[in-house]
Amino acid sequence: MKMKTEEKVKCPYEKKCGGCKYQGIPYEKQLKEKEKKVRKLLKDYGKPEPILGMEDPYYYRNKVHATYKHMRNGDIAVGRYEESSHRLVPIESCQIEDQKADEVIQTIRKLAKSFKIKIFNEDSGYGLLRHVLIRTGRKTGEMLVVLVVVSPVFPSKNNFVKALRKEHPEITSIVLNINDKKTSMILGERNIVLYGKGYIQDELCDYTFRISPHSFYQVNPVQTERLYKKAIRLADLKGKEKVLDAYCGIGTIGMIASKQAKEVTGVELNRDAVRDAIGNAKGNGVKNIRFYQADAGAFMVSMAEQGEKMDVVFMDPPRAGSDEAFLQSVIKLAPKKVVYISCNPETLARDLGYLTKKKYKVTKICPVDMFPFTDHCEVITCLQRVES
Ligand code: SAH
Repeated sequence: MKMKTEEKVKCPYEKKCGGCKYQGIPYEKQLKEKEKKVRKLLKDYGKPEPILGMEDPYYYRNKVHATYKHMRNGDIAVGRYEESSHRLVPIESCQIEDQKADEVIQTIRKLAKSFKIKIFNEDSGYGLLRHVLIRTGRKTGEMLVVLVVVSPVFPSKNNFVKALRKEHPEITSIVLNINDKKTSMILGERNIVLYGKGYIQDELCDYTFRISPHSFYQVNPVQTERLYKKAIRLADLKGKEKVLDAYCGIGTIGMIASKQAKEVTGVELNRDAVRDAIGNAKGNGVKNIRFYQADAGAFMVSMAEQGEKMDVVFMDPPRAGSDEAFLQSVIKLAPKKVVYISCNPETLARDLGYLTKKKYKVTKICPVDMFPFTDHCEVITCLQRVES
């Protein structure tokens, strides 16, 4: 693999931030470590293919989050919380995050001071601005800024928006998100659009997707295209299949697979993501796809009870993996193939244990590096039904 620059930037925040466990390790070695980990965890199911790494593993994150804090001298610091604590590590720029987003975060720090916006203090409960979340569309160049505040009363909000847009014309939307709860969750429930359409659009594999503040979207768009293409190739669709996209988010995998399938059903728990998915199907003119808002396990159980059949199941659960209700129903629905996309090889190994005891065998294991410099690893596993 061609490497652009090896260790071109030494991260000055490495020791305190803790976000990147593989800081200081050459990228080739990081990839080897991840391969080793996957090989070990999945040793009972086959030999993984070589990991798909990045050519340029820097500045890949399209979603950036920052927290602000008042300093004793009246300045405002911005950074991330130290791992497993709420102590702020001041950070000016991060080598795995979108660089423009990092600049906007610094501008908001400057503007917050000149507009005399009070920064929220978790201990006293006093102040207004809690976090900033930025999402960028790698292909479209769109940028959404979410200002997370305790109350919708934001002083001089129009002037603040104007000043921010003046410094960063690349911003396409600004949203106020109200989070007045004592919680470590970043976003509260309510969004108020201050400027633009309230979401970004991005393109993946020739489809356009809208992504709202609460919807899940893969953080590394370069690798996401490779991940999806590989997963869909493994499904080996011929145009006749009934396909399920479980844990579908904004509908990306199902939509991209739809042109090679008869019909696709997507299921997802998050309401906003389902709304985005339905809009995305319309926007892309995809007619053979339907989306349901439900717990994937419960949805599968009811499909199995109704005697439905599926030819291929894509499943892409969160880090906790799937659950028994879901896996049991996979067995009942009896798809020929299951393509399991996992961001946590530990829970993947557990779930594969269940499926391979009951009529499925693993035919391919493909690790993909979606998160360079961190110790996280994505794995696509293809399972085939064993005919008895
Ligand atoms: N396949 C999508 C999303 C993967 S992330 C993509 O590639 O973008 C996992 C998704 O599972 C998230 O959107 C999350 O909201 C959803 N989710 C979490 N628990 C769920 C459950 N019990 N049932 C259905 N969806 C769930």
